[in-house]
Amino acid sequence: MTTAARIRLAQTPTPLQPLDRLSAELGGPRLWIKRDDLTGSVCSGNKIRKLEFSLAQALAEGADTIITCGGLQSNHCRSTALLCSQLGLRCHLVLRGEASGTPDGNLLLDCLAGAEIDCIPPRRYQAELEQLLQDCAERYAADGHHAFIIPTGASDAIGVWGYVEGARELAEDCRREGFIPDAVVHATGSGGTQAGLTAGMVMAGLATPVYGVAVCDDEAWFMNKVRQDLRDWQQRYQPSIQRVGKKQPLDVEQLTINVIDGYVGPGYAQAGPEVFDCISRLARAEGIVLDPVYTGKGFYAMLDSIKRGTLSGDNIVFVHTGGVFGVFPQREEFGFSF
Ligand SMILES: *Cc1c(COP(=O)(O)O)cnc(C)c1O
Repeated sequence: MTTAARIRLAQTPTPLQPLDRLSAELGGPRLWIKRDDLTGSVCSGNKIRKLEFSLAQALAEGADTIITCGGLQSNHCRSTALLCSQLGLRCHLVLRGEASGTPDGNLLLDCLAGAEIDCIPPRRYQAELEQLLQDCAERYAADGHHAFIIPTGASDAIGVWGYVEGARELAEDCRREGFIPDAVVHATGSGGTQAGLTAGMVMAGLATPVYGVAVCDDEAWFMNKVRQDLRDWQQRYQPSIQRVGKKQPLDVEQLTINVIDGYVGPGYAQAGPEVFDCISRLARAEGIVLDPVYTGKGFYAMLDSIKRGTLSGDNIVFVHTGGVFGVFPQREEFGFSF
């Protein structure tokens, strides 16, 4: 096994909390939430766990500049921009979409962090992303800088470690609380969290299925992306697993990838009223705020799957992957006014 470089950036371990009032309202099962929305203040969410490894690799390679990409309201880009400032690195963001007016939510935080920002019209972004990132890196190289490119969501062989580590932490939480989780559910977007959790639960000695709720694309896309990230990770690091006291190579082809499809709604970052209602419901019942792009859809899908009987067990864990700043640009959808 080749170990990956890591720098400590996230506030971990995060709490694992029972959702007692909501579970009672629903009449079971017992729901739990892993509070990865508490991995930091402005750097909160799931991306920081992956960036502990991506940014460590960048520093190990002598980079002084980080280039990454995502939507205008990307949580990943916001975490990267702020962490770059924390580490004294330059940050360049290639964002999908056309911004106008005063920035809000994550984009405002990107600006506060001093990131260089290119906004690219969606069609061009879709067609030319790889080239745009390469060209950007070459411009920095021509100026005598060393730029390191982190792909969408930090979901690649390096980023997989973030949630292998996150799963080890979660397995420890469950042991301490005295239960074996029957399912782990989370929102999946670029696949890296799902890849890490899927491998990590098995490495932590648990047979618990991990369900990624698709918030964009479809089941086939995620099956392929998660499998590819796992293969790249296996090839790069040759991970091993402890079985009956003996170290054995982990074979990622044996891992089961589970996708919950059918909850994308109108599109990526667009949610129906049921998702906004679900966000309000959890905030009222438990004081925990989800976001409309990822965790609101994921949580709604979990509750709906339980109701339909397609997801069952005594103890179900939802991983809250963060995203609170995504609430503000969609404030109108909640329907409050004074
Ligand atoms: C990026 C993100 C996800 C999805 O994680 P991936 O590793 O990209 O699949 C889920 N929730 C939030 C809040 C995110 O920002």
